[in-house]
Amino acid sequence: MWFPGLIIIFAIAWYLAYREAGANAWIALVAGSMAAITFGASLPWHLSIPLWLAAAALVLLLGVPKIRQQLLAKKLLALFHKAVPAMSDTEREALEAGSIWWDAELFSGRPNWDKLLNTPRPQLSEQEQAFLDGPVETLCTMLDDWKITHEDQDLPPEVWNFIREKRFFGLVIPEEYGGLEFSAQAHSAVVMKISSRSIVAAVTVMVPNSLGPGKLLLHYGTQAQRDYYLPRLARGEEIPCFALTGPDAGSDAGALPDTGIVTHGEWEGKTVLGVRLNWEKRYITLGPVATIIGLAFHMYDPEHLLGDKENLGITLALIPGDTPGVTIGARHIPLDIPFQNGPNWGKDVFIPMSQLIGEQEFIGKGWRMLMESLAEGRSISLPALAVGAAKVSSRYTGAYAAIRQQFNMPIGRFEGVEEALARIAGLTYQMDATRKLTLCALDTGEMPSVVSAIVKYHLTERYRQAINDAMDIQAGSGISLGPANLIGRAYQALPIAVTVEGANILTRNMIIFGQGAMRCHPWIIREFSAARNQDSTQAVIDFDHAIFGHIGFFLGNAARSLFLGITRGRLSRSPVTGPARRYYQRLNWMSSAFALAADITMMTLGAALKRKERLSARLGDVLSEMYLTSAVLKQFEDDGCREEDLPLLHWACAHSFHRMQESLRLLARNLPFRPAGWALRLLLFPSGLPYAPPDDRISHKVAQLLLHPCGSRDRLTQGIFLTDDERFRQGVIEQAFFQAAVTAPIEKTLRNAHHAGLITAEGRIEQAREALEKGLISEEELDDIKKMHLLRRQVITVDSFEDYGKQYLLQPETKISNHVA
Ligand SMILES: Cc1cc2nc3c(=O)[nH]c(=O)nc-3n(C[C@H](O)[C@H](O)[C@H](O)COP(=O)(O)OP(=O)(O)OC[C@H]3O[C@@H](n4cnc5c(N)ncnc54)[C@H](O)[C@@H]3O)c2cc1C
Repeated sequence: MWFPGLIIIFAIAWYLAYREAGANAWIALVAGSMAAITFGASLPWHLSIPLWLAAAALVLLLGVPKIRQQLLAKKLLALFHKAVPAMSDTEREALEAGSIWWDAELFSGRPNWDKLLNTPRPQLSEQEQAFLDGPVETLCTMLDDWKITHEDQDLPPEVWNFIREKRFFGLVIPEEYGGLEFSAQAHSAVVMKISSRSIVAAVTVMVPNSLGPGKLLLHYGTQAQRDYYLPRLARGEEIPCFALTGPDAGSDAGALPDTGIVTHGEWEGKTVLGVRLNWEKRYITLGPVATIIGLAFHMYDPEHLLGDKENLGITLALIPGDTPGVTIGARHIPLDIPFQNGPNWGKDVFIPMSQLIGEQEFIGKGWRMLMESLAEGRSISLPALAVGAAKVSSRYTGAYAAIRQQFNMPIGRFEGVEEALARIAGLTYQMDATRKLTLCALDTGEMPSVVSAIVKYHLTERYRQAINDAMDIQAGSGISLGPANLIGRAYQALPIAVTVEGANILTRNMIIFGQGAMRCHPWIIREFSAARNQDSTQAVIDFDHAIFGHIGFFLGNAARSLFLGITRGRLSRSPVTGPARRYYQRLNWMSSAFALAADITMMTLGAALKRKERLSARLGDVLSEMYLTSAVLKQFEDDGCREEDLPLLHWACAHSFHRMQESLRLLARNLPFRPAGWALRLLLFPSGLPYAPPDDRISHKVAQLLLHPCGSRDRLTQGIFLTDDERFRQGVIEQAFFQAAVTAPIEKTLRNAHHAGLITAEGRIEQAREALEKGLISEEELDDIKKMHLLRRQVITVDSFEDYGKQYLLQPETKISNHVA
């Protein structure tokens, strides 16, 4: 009698926790349980009275806000103050910058799928499409990447002029200022296409449109500053750069030692109030050719010319390159990807207040301005570059694997090569889906800072994997640089993408979860802001609301995680039917599991989590993989749930779910408070570890998509520079790829005939001639084999250089003297 009753009470409690029910529902459960225990079990009065008293006390304590606030919330707030360290201004500004979006849904433990699926499909306007098909296509045909990277170490003058003239520097500048005012989708599409032809050109175009003077003026500039600078930037009359990093301030950019002292000085023949600057910056892209430097520095007012405060904080200014005291240094060489990049410094440079971005209103707000602009720019530029490289690897390395033969077979047919090809294709699918979804958020007005860190890190890391796989497959032809090599420069450029806009180790270990927990968790930010409130009465009221909301959230995720873990998500809601259905259900499970894991980790580690970067990184990985999987599901829907794309969907989901599982497993295993780790392992995976990496069957199917002409291949590589014009290397590979599809069955006939001893010749052409003589193939088929032979020869040929290294050859005498020395 007792046992079933308890089970029913427990089940109702579980259900209430699962639904995150409010206080009234819990009070009703307590009252109902008490009534059932007292009357159902006919408890004697000396047991039932204390039980009723305990229940009444519990109800009063939890159900009456005033009592709860005074007896519980106040004490908990005091503990919170002790446990959580004060935040620095730069930390707080970084955390508060930008907005939250789908990342917050994933953190909720109950993602609202309608929000994702109702996000508008990515699309370009007619004008944007025309720009891609016109000026961008023309620019791509003008670019000779080998000449740019090896011979000139710069873009040729006609390319610089074309970029200026067609307003490539004004992609984000509104039309009223002479810019193109493109959407984020279009901006990304432009950068991606150019990058598939020349990374130097892509970086040159992307930097002025990313974090820099143009963006900063748009958001924070005064009207006068916008009227003066934006048209000049859009027309390319001013070349901007943005200088934040210096020798002593790299990743810890907020610690920049560069100073600006408020003082009077000379400007255009008059004495005016302004700032005297001293700085030293390095690694500044476009710095060597910039006419206007966006500068970040720390501003001080020791003479109190502006007010009481001395330390005014990080401030941003525009410094004309020809201002007295400014020095533009020589060029750095970023791994032989010769976009303009170099140091600059200033000694006692005076600028008037009108050169501060936003003038006096934005003094000291520089860090926040940077973080907000970074959230937007970081979502566009490097992701576009990374996806461009992955698409190039998919299209041309896939084609190479279909064309190149060893052991009498296309190398793409060997299982080892297939595995690497499948990774390239599967990662490219994930990357492109993630790029597009993030751009949709930007185009609906979001500035998702956590998402921007996720895409920056995970797309550049996937670029790393894809380009390494491409290199392994292309082997010697990927290594030998020259005009014929389409992947070598993308391989060299990878560490640049990994380092800039937040170096990857830092981004994974500190930013993604560090910022994600603060921004996306539904309650933590409220607890922090309640704790910061100077009004102590209001602080207790707000903290009470936040902390009890948090407890409900925690219990909800524990209940959901266990239930979904036992059922492996099966009974949860999916917004779709069909092959993607189970992936939505699994994400429901992972979302609860992640939110629970995040809470348990934060509860057991408190402020120490900041130092436990590995744990933070693993939580960030789970959030990120959930985001990437959401993007893949959305793309599959947007593309019309095509059967042909199913291998890509299955590969991408298997890859990510396995990574989520491994990150959670390792998190539980490494939690310093071991009982919490054991409990977490049980709550997260009560029915074992279900996820495995993509299996061989899926891997095979995915690789096939790159080895044969098909719609999936075209969709996967859409948006890069494509041509079948044989004057371009891409065109030659493309022709050979299609010819390989034509000749594959003929070559199979020849192989079989050779095996069977019907033909005995060794070379392919000789075998074909013999087969023709024996009536095994037709005249046209012989021609096809001959054509393929020529095309294959062109594709596998690598460059060699008569004059390479000549300048380093030592004369015999020098050799001897060197040797003796
Ligand atoms: C080609 C190129 C172009 C650039 N363009 C510009 C530009 O236009 N404007 C500009 O202002 N800057 C620019 N930069 C600077 C770039 O943003 C910095 O290089 C970057 O911030 C890293 O700084 P650092 O190289 O000094 O590395 P460091 O800060 O010395 O970092 C070294 C390593 O330590 C890791 N690390 C540091 N702190 C932590 C932490 N707390 N937790 C975990 N890991 C950590 C980093 O991830 C990195 O792996 C450019 C750099 C390059 C190479």
